[in-house]
Amino acid sequence: MRIFKYPKWLRRLYPDSIWGIFTSNPILYLTFDDGPCPEITDWILQELRQYNAKATFFCLGKNSKNYPLLMSKIIADGHLVGNHSMRHLNGRKSGTKAFLADVEEAARYTSTTLFRPPYGKLKFKQHNLLKKAGYQTIFWSYLSYDFDLKIPVEKLVEQAKKKIKAGDIIVLHDSEKAFVNMRVLLPEILTYFSEKGFQFKAIPR
Ligand SMILES: [Zn+2]
Repeated sequence: MRIFKYPKWLRRLYPDSIWGIFTSNPILYLTFDDGPCPEITDWILQELRQYNAKATFFCLGKNSKNYPLLMSKIIADGHLVGNHSMRHLNGRKSGTKAFLADVEEAARYTSTTLFRPPYGKLKFKQHNLLKKAGYQTIFWSYLSYDFDLKIPVEKLVEQAKKKIKAGDIIVLHDSEKAFVNMRVLLPEILTYFSEKGFQFKAIPR
């Protein structure tokens, strides 16, 4: 079963983390994981510009290190950068020390204390130690499944239009793999929700 909308019981497991923003105002928080990625990041930035939309980019340290120019472009456009670890480690399968070191390494290239765990997976101990080190963990409330090439993109668009609500933190991917779906899904989300009077903002600090 695919969970597009995260259930409340799951959110309660990590009460110190952000799973969405409580608001009745028509605001959505787009987030892009795994970038920056040559050509794709530029494409995303251009799409966002057309709608005066701001977003948060949870970048991989290894990509931030390799593509500093793309990082500068993200920041120059007024978007927010988050840390998505150095090597996309799965916290549940990693030792706590190694996991934290990987996040700290990525912080050197992303210069931020906003953190999104790869796969949304981390141990309570890792979560608590990151908090102690000054990191704010950001999960999401709506997973777009843009990376899942087994789902027809029309279905992803339909789900997004039906299920996304004010205050949702939406996950999309700044990666080659997801681009097949994301190139259709992002413009649909931007157009549909702009017409309904929604604004797109970076996660508030
Ligand atoms: Zn990721």
